[in-house]
Amino acid sequence: MTPKHVRQRGVLHLIALIPLSLSLLLLDSRLWGVALGLAILVGTARYRGLNLISLILAALCAYAAGYRIEFITNPEGGFFYLQQGSWLITLAWIIAVSQGVSALEQLDPSGRLLTKILLISGSALALIASLQGQWLSVMLLGTVVVIAVGLRTYTVPTEHWSRAVGYGLAVAAIAGLVKTTASMALLAPLIALVLPFTSTLSIAYSYKLSRSWLDELPTGRTRSLIVLYLISAYASVLAFLAPRIDFAVFVGIMAGTGIVMGLWVWSLVRLPQTEVRAKEFVLFRTPIDCVTLDEAVQRLASFLRARRSALVCTPDTTAIVRAQRDHKLREVYERADLVTPDGTGIVWAGRLLGAPVRERVSGIDLVERLFASWAHSRAPLRVFLVGAAPGVAERAAQKLCERYPNLQIVGTHHGYFRPDENERVLSLINRAQPDIVLVGLGVPKQELWMQENRAKLNVSVLMGVGGCFDVWAGRLQRAPVRWQRLGLEWLYRVFQEPRRLVRVSAIPLFVGQISLIKIARLLCD
Ligand code: UDP
Repeated sequence: MTPKHVRQRGVLHLIALIPLSLSLLLLDSRLWGVALGLAILVGTARYRGLNLISLILAALCAYAAGYRIEFITNPEGGFFYLQQGSWLITLAWIIAVSQGVSALEQLDPSGRLLTKILLISGSALALIASLQGQWLSVMLLGTVVVIAVGLRTYTVPTEHWSRAVGYGLAVAAIAGLVKTTASMALLAPLIALVLPFTSTLSIAYSYKLSRSWLDELPTGRTRSLIVLYLISAYASVLAFLAPRIDFAVFVGIMAGTGIVMGLWVWSLVRLPQTEVRAKEFVLFRTPIDCVTLDEAVQRLASFLRARRSALVCTPDTTAIVRAQRDHKLREVYERADLVTPDGTGIVWAGRLLGAPVRERVSGIDLVERLFASWAHSRAPLRVFLVGAAPGVAERAAQKLCERYPNLQIVGTHHGYFRPDENERVLSLINRAQPDIVLVGLGVPKQELWMQENRAKLNVSVLMGVGGCFDVWAGRLQRAPVRWQRLGLEWLYRVFQEPRRLVRVSAIPLFVGQISLIKIARLLCD
């Protein structure tokens, strides 16, 4: 912004402030206390050692002028008057909110976040106050927001400005609180408090996060921002709902949504964001190769030529969710030579976040396409199958050989061997000299097994294939093409194996996380 624009904006803000301040003075003579409090805060701002004392003094000014939290409402009806404790609660409230806003300032020195938070919470509070006819609160909030936005525009943000803004917000909330006695019985003070209160909490939360381990992660700040936005939005919705519904329902909604929000926030701050690289989509730290089915087949063929124990994984959406907390599984994906997106959820996430993921490449399609492409090769493809219940791999081998003439299944073993039988299985595989070992032990067992035994196996490709043997053996049916096209193969599998329901319950969480990341990007970028 050029200096000329800054000046123009400054004039606009002044023009907006004059009628606001005049109407405020007409509406409420107690405002001298706030003015004095603000003067103390701004006047002593330079002396860091006096910050807390000046804040206490400013809070006392507001209290002496008549801004007091005088009662706490009782859900059963009636009020609990604080009497002697009123000054203490009022002081604590003003100090907490002011310090909170100033902490937010330190978290985000650019001031953009503070302005946005103030706009969101200020507008939500103002809306509620206007619905309840508390025009004084509306005016106060309007003034605070205008000042805050104005300060951001033409001053270098400093801690004391934000403390003054927090002071204004805290007093505005109290002004609303006093006014609501008649209309909202007990809940009103809570509603008036909910926004600055949750904002303060979120500020404290992100402040703590940003100063500790989260800071070390490159995307830490972005995640703190998401948390703040979420909590502000959540608080706005709560504040809007509170006056309209029954107390018990309100508490229920608060508890329910609080838990869900808590989980989301928890998973968000714990997780790194996604990243798009040239040909890779790093989804929660799991790198996924953006290949088409044909390209994946070509990669497999090149691994087969190179003969160097390449590791191939085909995670579906639930495996990606699992890899977020299972670092061993994630490590396997990180070290794998090819990781294909075997989940509609992954493809959707990639498209939403701008990764060049083109199509779903499922394990079963990849293997079948490879086998089919081998039909005209000179040497047959030597394959070993490890996994599934006893007898299933043999049946699968039989069916596969019928379908793909140039295929040679050089051995099979069921997937329920004990750890002490592992060496025997390994030597069985090595003796059979396969080109490729298909491992169907399910996620994450197959990935961990492949990584652990990779060096001991003298093969070109190790590939995890989950429940493919069951499908080839005819024990399970693959979803019809129409289900696959609709991205509902997982649902079809749930019908066949209801125990998978637990696993797919992670999909809504995944959708929620990706949506939040998208929202966060829109807000933060
Ligand atoms: N399985 C196995 N050994 C085990 C556990 C599972 O061989 O200790 C087999 C199981 O019989 C089934 C496959 O692994 O054939 C797991 O299939 P699922 O569809 O669950 O695979 P995912 O979806 O995990 O890739």
